[in-house]
This record gives sequence, C-alpha cells and structure tokens, in this order.
Amino acid sequence: MSDITDLVERARAAALRAYAPYSGFSVGCAIESVDGEIVTGANMENACYRLGVCAEIAALTAAQAAFGLERVARIAVSGGDGSGAALKGESVVTSCGGCRQSILEAAQRAGLDVEVISSNGDGTRTRTDRISALIPHGFGPDNLRDSG
Ligand SMILES: [Zn+2]
Repeated sequence: MSDITDLVERARAAALRAYAPYSGFSVGCAIESVDGEIVTGANMENACYRLGVCAEIAALTAAQAAFGLERVARIAVSGGDGSGAALKGESVVTSCGGCRQSILEAAQRAGLDVEVISSNGDGTRTRTDRISALIPHGFGPDNLRDSG
C-alpha cells in the first residue's frame, strides 16, 4: 500500500483535470487497489447541471475497468480551487451522500471496510474514515442476499 500522503497527492493532481466551469470547484479522487494499483478521476460538470459526475464516481469507474470494484482498498478525495498550478483550499472535502453509497457498493463487493481519506485542497489537512462510519447502516449489495 502506498503512503497516505502519496494517495492524497494523486487525488490533488487529479483535481487539476476536473471539468468544473460552473462551480469552479475541482475535485480529484485516487483509488488504490489491494495490490497497490492506483487510478484517478475528477469531477465533470455539464451545462445541464444535474448531469454532473463526481470525482469519486469517475475514479470508481476507472477502478472497475482497471482492476474491478472487488479489489478497491483505499480512496483519497481532495477538492478546492483548481485554477492554478496546484489545487488550493482550506476546508477538508468529504464525499457527498451519493458517492458514499457508491463507495459502499465497492466496499461490500471487496469485503473490506474501505478507508476514505479526505483532504483539503492544499493537502495540509486530512481525515481518515472507514466507509462504515461515513454511511452507517447503508444499503448495499449485502442487503440483496435474500432476493429471489
Ligand atoms: Zn459525490
């Protein structure tokens, strides 16, 4: 597994590739597999605002293609002003509710209580949570075991 700082830096770098002309808020996400492979994603907004895609979803899609959701181990998220040469921002950015739901899906597929590292744009402040703490009692694939 990579150092937490490395994963946060990958998320911060990914945020610089965000397409966020409406909010001006760039978010990057880096996902590490159980084998140490890392993929990234950034938010992608749309003129039809509700069609915007979060960085976490972009990165989860990349993870699905690269190594499969069942191998997701750790996720770093960072957000802020991405208009300069480096991401900037003071507030620690945590995933929205929808992304927590999607991370839970990967976590239950992986059979891991996936670690989520949230950081500020500057990369100077982080908090680390398990997905079970970010979406307690969440509904996921484990709930469908009794389906017909
Ligand atoms: Zn989100």
